[in-house]
Amino acid sequence: MSFSVCRLIYILVAAKQMTVRKHIALIGTGPVSILKAYLLVKRDPTLKVSLFESSSNLGGAWYSDISPKGHEIESGCHIWSYVPEVYSFLKSEFALELTPMNPSPTFVGKKLKVNYSTKNTLDTYKHIFKSLLKFKKPAIKNHPGFYGRIFGKKNQYPKLGSVELINALKLKIEKEKNIEIIQNFMVDEIKISDQVELIGKDNTYVCDQLFMTSVSEVQKISMKDQIIEMEQSQIDYIHFLIALSNPTNKKMSYWRLMNDPVVHRISDISYQTANEENLLLVGIKGDAYHSTSEEDLLKHCEKVFRSLKLIVPETSVEKLKTYIFPTYYINGQIRERINEISPSQIQLIHSTDLMHGFYYILKEENLI
Ligand SMILES: Cc1cc2nc3c(=O)[nH]c(=O)nc-3n(C[C@H](O)[C@H](O)[C@H](O)COP(=O)(O)OP(=O)(O)OC[C@H]3O[C@@H](n4cnc5c(N)ncnc54)[C@H](O)[C@@H]3O)c2cc1C
Repeated sequence: MSFSVCRLIYILVAAKQMTVRKHIALIGTGPVSILKAYLLVKRDPTLKVSLFESSSNLGGAWYSDISPKGHEIESGCHIWSYVPEVYSFLKSEFALELTPMNPSPTFVGKKLKVNYSTKNTLDTYKHIFKSLLKFKKPAIKNHPGFYGRIFGKKNQYPKLGSVELINALKLKIEKEKNIEIIQNFMVDEIKISDQVELIGKDNTYVCDQLFMTSVSEVQKISMKDQIIEMEQSQIDYIHFLIALSNPTNKKMSYWRLMNDPVVHRISDISYQTANEENLLLVGIKGDAYHSTSEEDLLKHCEKVFRSLKLIVPETSVEKLKTYIFPTYYINGQIRERINEISPSQIQLIHSTDLMHGFYYILKEENLI
């Protein structure tokens, strides 16, 4: 065979390989979508994977910001659910150093405080009890929310905050030539035929398969004569980044407030600045945020801190930033219809809780 014929065959084979390369798209760059993209390419390096993100941030609800003194900090008050298999995977795959949150994250009621590790244990036993009453086998093994362990169910977290996880994920996907991130592109509509079209305001992208999480904000999905007009309930999660003039009076990691009409949760993120800055992230309830001025909300936060003795009388409180995360939950019926429309072309990823989302992805990939 002459050299030119060999060359032609080589080009044809290469061209064929190029044309059959499967293209997968994911909506959003939250950690769940990034992990999925990374694992897809790890399993099959011939894939092309594109992540479409409407904003210019990476990390979804976990994106990081820069503090006044230049430290990379979280933008939301966060906690990781207790899912030991996922912790082990993250430690080995991303060399993350995870430690039990110290002190334990806590539910704070009017009179009672219960830490999460106690609540996790109680939830498991409540689940077992309820299942037994219904003569059903309790889902202790295959449910990330329930573990039979009695002691030591401590929520873990990266030593310097979830910024470490996002950066580790970023690093992995930046090294992957087969993964591209398309930012500032809002997917408004999805059309399924032989391929999947992702339609935005000024552009349309085409792929073979699409993954979207249950908080993707899409208006319409269609396949031939089937049209799904999306019904999503919007919840705005609001976080205030608050600077204190002194460190907190009590050591805390994450408090979930059970009875306050305004404040939903509080995280002390000073450790993310090597304690050079005294910073709290405070979750504000959406209703309160939309009906009250920021000035009054800050006064309320201060009152809450004082009544919980989180700050001493001389501590002053300043709001540095407001982060707003509008979140669109796809309702259950619509999720079922999406799952039925073309499972080989469009798939939903579980994403209401980060560690649970990771758990299901890792299970699917047979990694745990
Ligand atoms: C403020 C907040 C705090 C949270 N705190 C916790 C916590 O402490 N612990 C926990 O386990 N879970 C928490 N959650 C839930 C958790 O964030 C999710 O489980 C996790 O982020 C899953 O990632 P995701 O990609 O599904 O969603 P997100 O992280 O919300 O990211 C979705 C991304 O998709 C983009 N997007 C959406 N629709 C489109 C579209 N049509 N086109 C292009 N881009 C689009 C958005 O801009 C966003 O960046 C929180 C959620 C929010 C909003």
